[in-house]
Amino acid sequence: GDQIRVDGIRKTFNDGSVVACDDVNIGIDEGEFIVLVGPSGCGKTTTLRCIAGLEEPDSGSITVDGEDITGLKSKDRNLAFVFQSIALFPHMSVRKNIRFGLDMNTDLSKEEKRQRVEEVADTLGLSAMLDRKPSALSGGQQQRVSLGRAMVMEPAAFLLDEPFSALDANLRDKMRVEVKKIQRQLNTAMIFVTHDQEEAMTLGDKIVVMNEGYVQQIGTPYEVYNEPENRFVAGFIGSPSPNLIECTVERTADGLAFASDFYTIPATEKQVDRVEGYIGETVIYGIRPEYLNLGTDPGEFVADLDVVEPLGDRDAVHLSANGTSLSAVTPQGKISKERDRIHVDIQTEESWLFEEDGTRIV
Ligand code: ADP
Ligand code: MG
Repeated sequence: GDQIRVDGIRKTFNDGSVVACDDVNIGIDEGEFIVLVGPSGCGKTTTLRCIAGLEEPDSGSITVDGEDITGLKSKDRNLAFVFQSIALFPHMSVRKNIRFGLDMNTDLSKEEKRQRVEEVADTLGLSAMLDRKPSALSGGQQQRVSLGRAMVMEPAAFLLDEPFSALDANLRDKMRVEVKKIQRQLNTAMIFVTHDQEEAMTLGDKIVVMNEGYVQQIGTPYEVYNEPENRFVAGFIGSPSPNLIECTVERTADGLAFASDFYTIPATEKQVDRVEGYIGETVIYGIRPEYLNLGTDPGEFVADLDVVEPLGDRDAVHLSANGTSLSAVTPQGKISKERDRIHVDIQTEESWLFEEDGTRIV
């Protein structure tokens, strides 16, 4: 079962006028890598701080290994928090920085402490740097020292709040792989906060998507990518963003269809059963860029080419169809940027439908 349970956490500020997070329920298995992701201000840090005991929730509880720890002080929770900014002691060696949290511990002998520090340094590739000062290390190495400082405590779980946000893009990619490797090795639960959906997708065994203080969806990377539970998740996960097209549900000679400003999209068999009750109403038709096929002849409709954006092995192709902006993804170089009109087909089997308020229909 769950090693850590977050049950109905609510936290407000300013006499209740700011709801930072509400009704947050998350279960974390032993050794699981959980990522909290969402736009800035959605309540990720507050949720993590409540778990860490750095913030007292207005209501709700936190359980670790079956024990309710909601009332415990942060230092008694056996959870290690790694902060956004790297806060090492500049005058201490790497060895002393890593050992810092252990120095208070009177249950361990000096020899046991030395051993733990060396094991952790070995895992993190810092063995050769133990006697240096932090200033003699690169940014990535410094971030590893702060991770090491958490690791020597052998906590029940690690809590990390945007730990790579100060690193440049290349190093960030490397640190992601490293942290994931280390976490596999330790098999300790990690709760990792980021605003970066790509980082969330690459790191998380399970992703918790938040918006405006509320959990929108919890699932594996594939689940949140393929089957978003609402319009927010659909629009937030994936790059370039999916096409979310406003349509009216209509009855046609062949069945049902979704009439947009540029094309009337036939409903799939699976959709027909679910949208019978929506005839005449507005719905949002969602389709990922990779499911618009370009350059098909004759094509279902024609769009103007705006911009071709090279992504590496693929290109993002931005189009306008009678005033509606659309994005597609094609293999590199398939669509020349000199073209002005492009035939488009929609792989309708891959589409999602949302109500106007964002609720998933099918
Ligand atoms: P995130 O980490 O997702 O960016 P936060 O948890 O930091 O979001 O903040 C969530 C909301 O709570 C924001 O509107 C933020 O301004 C507010 N908030 C966070 N901490 C405080 C605080 N100490 N006092 C007042 N408002 C706060
Ligand atoms: Mg934050």
